[in-house]
Amino acid sequence: MTVTYEEALQKYEPVFGLETHVELGTTTKMFCGCPTTFGAEPNSHVCPVCLGLPGSLPVTNRVAIEYTIKIGLALNCSIASWCRFARKNYFYPDMPKNFQISQYDEPLCVDGYLDVLVGGKTVRVGIERVHLEEDTGKSLHIGGATGRIQGADYSLVDYNRAGIPLVEIVTRPVPGTGYLAPEVARAYVTELRDLLRSLGVSDVRMEEGSLRADVNTSLSPRGSDVLGTRTETKNVNSLRSVERAVRSEVSRQAEVLGSGGRVIQETRHFHEDTGVTTSGRSKEEAQDYRYFPEPDLVPVAPPRDWVASIAASLPELPSARRDRLMSAWSLSELEFEALRNAGALGVVEATVAAGASPADARKWWLGELARRANDMGIEVSALPITPADVARISELVAAGSLNDRLARQVIEGVLDEEGTPDEVVAARGLAVVSDDSALLSAIDEAIAANPDVVARIRDGKVQAAGVLVGAVMKATRGKADAARVRELIMDRLS
Ligand SMILES: [Zn+2]
Repeated sequence: MTVTYEEALQKYEPVFGLETHVELGTTTKMFCGCPTTFGAEPNSHVCPVCLGLPGSLPVTNRVAIEYTIKIGLALNCSIASWCRFARKNYFYPDMPKNFQISQYDEPLCVDGYLDVLVGGKTVRVGIERVHLEEDTGKSLHIGGATGRIQGADYSLVDYNRAGIPLVEIVTRPVPGTGYLAPEVARAYVTELRDLLRSLGVSDVRMEEGSLRADVNTSLSPRGSDVLGTRTETKNVNSLRSVERAVRSEVSRQAEVLGSGGRVIQETRHFHEDTGVTTSGRSKEEAQDYRYFPEPDLVPVAPPRDWVASIAASLPELPSARRDRLMSAWSLSELEFEALRNAGALGVVEATVAAGASPADARKWWLGELARRANDMGIEVSALPITPADVARISELVAAGSLNDRLARQVIEGVLDEEGTPDEVVAARGLAVVSDDSALLSAIDEAIAANPDVVARIRDGKVQAAGVLVGAVMKATRGKADAARVRELIMDRLS
């Protein structure tokens, strides 16, 4: 691309919006009793209803309605007192009925917002609607190099996913984020994922497709409030890709506009390998779908007292948790973001609950343990060390039984499954040498071996003592308390 993101930003203001699809974690499908388990033998979780066989009739899953109301309430939406499902008509091989049961002009939840934290600032993302629909099946294209239909020998369809309840969360266009637009888009999906996880309504695994984002991007000329033509980048399947997709569309659209062209309203595909989008189909208008109210289902009219009891049962949401932890641990927004982005909030909270100070818990999980997790290519929370182990190691350091270097060796031992921190300390003989007489013999050896250093210290160049401290640490194989060694050396030479 010849127009860089930075150049694009000088001329245009990016505006983005997100449509996020979330597969609900109900045990059965939206309109039938088929199980929703992921990874089953193809076409083993199907019945006449989700295969769209003639004469079959759908029945609405009450838990799916409850989960959607939960999501709507958590996103500060109003919950409709009466609404209907609608048929969205289009042909697609993985959609057995030739229409999708969705919601159109009567969504279950409308008009909310989600606050997200980016670069230490809060951005409020407006939520236009949250509606409920059914997922489609999955086409598998066999024989091609890319897994896409182009170049494939034949295609197979798996209907296990057809009819799984799917919630679509649509934001309003988000203007005014400027340079940070890609990061705000990513932060929104992250916050939404955390929110959905805390509600327990979905396993929100982007890699398994239970959370899928479509990213709308447009450019307005700087200083103008006219919205440009938007494109929709489909099925962006990781948090990082959300950010990259916005960034890449901003550059591409700026290039099109800069060369006198116009942006076409279309669907685009994001390519994980190159980080760019390519043209898909031109975007359908609502009238192309010939929506009409679904005649086989009764309207949804959630009683107000039911909605109130769902509202009362909501767990602590990520934003409330953020406020609580920032105040309890005296963190800035940037420090909080670092913890959240490292996926370490839960483990740090548990480590503090197990007795460590917030500062110690953060230090270990964001430092040594984050490095180890990164090396192993896993989340910190998946490391084979418990918050209680980390709290115990912090306690040993605070008591002076371990220094940081020895503590890192204890962590290594625990990760290598040598046992609890205390067992590793005992087995590897890792306690700090706190016995002064043992240290003094090493100090006397260091003094005897470095007469020139001793002379400099006696001349008043006390920083030269570092050489002697180093020699003693080496002689004790790092098991001494460096501050205590320095004290003893200065005593000896005074
Ligand atoms: Zn079924």
